[in-house]
Amino acid sequence: MDFRFTDEQQLLAESLKECLVRSITEADIQKSYETETFPMDAWKALAENGFLSIGAPESMGGVPADVTTQVLIAYLVNKYGGPLAGFLTLGLTTMRDLEDFGTPEQQEMVLGQYIEGGTPMALGMSEPNAGSDSSGIQTSYVSQGDKVIINGHKHYNSMASQCDYVLLTAKDAAIRNPYKSMTMFILPTNTPGVRITDLPKLGGKSPMHICEIFLDNVELPKSYILGKEHNGFPQLMKNFEIERTVAMAGALAVAENAFEDAAAYSKQRVQFGRPICENQLIQEKIFHMKMKVELMRNMLFKVAWMIDNKMDVRVDHALCKYYCANAANEVVDDALQVMGGVGLVGNHRIMRYFCETRSQRIGAGSDQVMIFSTAPQILMDF
Ligand SMILES: Cc1cc2nc3c(=O)[nH]c(=O)nc-3n(C[C@H](O)[C@H](O)[C@H](O)COP(=O)(O)OP(=O)(O)OC[C@H]3O[C@@H](n4cnc5c(N)ncnc54)[C@H](O)[C@@H]3O)c2cc1C
Repeated sequence: MDFRFTDEQQLLAESLKECLVRSITEADIQKSYETETFPMDAWKALAENGFLSIGAPESMGGVPADVTTQVLIAYLVNKYGGPLAGFLTLGLTTMRDLEDFGTPEQQEMVLGQYIEGGTPMALGMSEPNAGSDSSGIQTSYVSQGDKVIINGHKHYNSMASQCDYVLLTAKDAAIRNPYKSMTMFILPTNTPGVRITDLPKLGGKSPMHICEIFLDNVELPKSYILGKEHNGFPQLMKNFEIERTVAMAGALAVAENAFEDAAAYSKQRVQFGRPICENQLIQEKIFHMKMKVELMRNMLFKVAWMIDNKMDVRVDHALCKYYCANAANEVVDDALQVMGGVGLVGNHRIMRYFCETRSQRIGAGSDQVMIFSTAPQILMDF
């Protein structure tokens, strides 16, 4: 069994890390949190160096990439790029949808500007009455000739107020069956009738806004339908596995950074006349953190490899999502314990991690969704 990345992947990883370290420092990241401003200059640097075109269709000047390579990119941008990961995760996720279901015109409209350092497409699925149950949406549309009129309300939409487009789900008001009435739309956020506001969130100020979208008689040409009309639900399910795997690259990166910060701090912090790392109670935490980070890495890249090899990941991707989300929270919590007050007072990045990592257990399919959607599948083998 060969766990190594290919030479091309290693070269890509080195040049991406170099670009990130050069373009965005921890001080820049801190500033972007304080001012709640996305670091657009660093984002443009990723585009100028060609990193945003990896995975985009070749017809648009993109470079083909497998899921393993995309997960590697997501991991590195989360590890070294702070909030840049917010845009990148949306970009990688919606790139798949555009490639699988989009017309060449739609790909050009959304991806054309994205790979040049524009914004990704935000995700507009969740609603006040439709969270885990994404089939329960109430946002609806009526057809009028070659256009539709959309009304409804979305919430918890990551960075929607900072993006030029939203991938929106809405159901045809004329069809009752929720699985046969959902349609995906590409919604330009400057369309008349669209109002987007930012919501408060755990941890306070952040350059990655979580939003609410109000849709009041929004008129869209039918050419803005992504994929087939009424085929939105199966389309939504198709790329969930990749979306969750890419999201867990963020869990791994943050857990690894937290572990590294805590390990370094434990060697430097002296109490009772010796570094705290010399106490076995601290060493136990270091050992457990390291073990969990390694297990996360193994599960994550195994699932990416399985997807690339066209294997069934219905069970494995859910095990990976559940484990990585929970292990990341445990590692960050242990790291904060090792760092004592430094993790609670001041502006160390562990404070951001502590607040942000919690959402991994809820967004993109909660712990409970991973269990109840997969346990019956596991039991089928017995
Ligand atoms: C930071 C963040 C970013 C997000 N970004 C986006 C985004 O960009 N776009 C978007 O569309 N959405 C986004 N979401 C929404 C996310 O997908 C939902 O929060 C998620 O699907 C859960 O929905 P909910 O919060 O309404 O919880 P609910 O579905 O109401 O669930 C509440 C609790 O009940 C549990 N539960 C629900 N059903 C069952 C069941 N059948 N059995 C057992 N337990 C159950 C859940 O696991 C959870 O613990 C984001 C959420 C967060 C927190």
